[in-house]
Amino acid sequence: MTLVLSPEEIARGVRRLAQEIDHYYLGKRPLLVGVLRGAFIFLSDLVRLLEIPVTVDFIRLPSYGCGTESQGAVRVLQGLSEEIRGRDVIVVEDIVDTGVTTTFLMAYLKRRKPASLRLCVLLDKPSRHRVEVPIDYLGFLVPNVFLVGYGLDLAQAHRQYPAVYALEEEVGP
Ligand code: 5GP
Ligand code: MG
Repeated sequence: MTLVLSPEEIARGVRRLAQEIDHYYLGKRPLLVGVLRGAFIFLSDLVRLLEIPVTVDFIRLPSYGCGTESQGAVRVLQGLSEEIRGRDVIVVEDIVDTGVTTTFLMAYLKRRKPASLRLCVLLDKPSRHRVEVPIDYLGFLVPNVFLVGYGLDLAQAHRQYPAVYALEEEVGP
């Protein structure tokens, strides 16, 4: 495994995102929607750095292991517990790869008529995008390698590492 982002780098990135969110949502009380399971560590670090009041909910989408990728049809495996109509919603995602999952999720949430809907992503692999994903808050651009740690798994393993690692060498886009 090769180190991609150290705990210190991640902490700096998450702190910057928290500051951006604090600034934009000053006087508001957004609902953060964490995408399970990959975003659970990122979300828990992020909320502890925010100064604005927030509430937290989770949604669960299928995940894809190494060597496979998102197909067109994404489903919601576990829905929200909160009503989002009229709320300021921030989706908190671990990683955007092809963009298919996130595009589906944003459309799914938008149909429920939130007052506003923004996207906060820790890691983005721009060379892999198949659809354009407007990311409002981005932690890091990463190369086209399979990443684990800091919530990201391979077959449910490796999530617990405090750093992000690449499992393989970079392959072309
Ligand atoms: P997309 O729909 O953008 O192709 O894929 C999104 C999902 O695929 C992510 O939420 C994540 O679950 C999984 N994924 C994409 N790239 C990686 C990666 O490098 N490592 C891990 N562990 N999961 C990934
Ligand atoms: Mg994810």
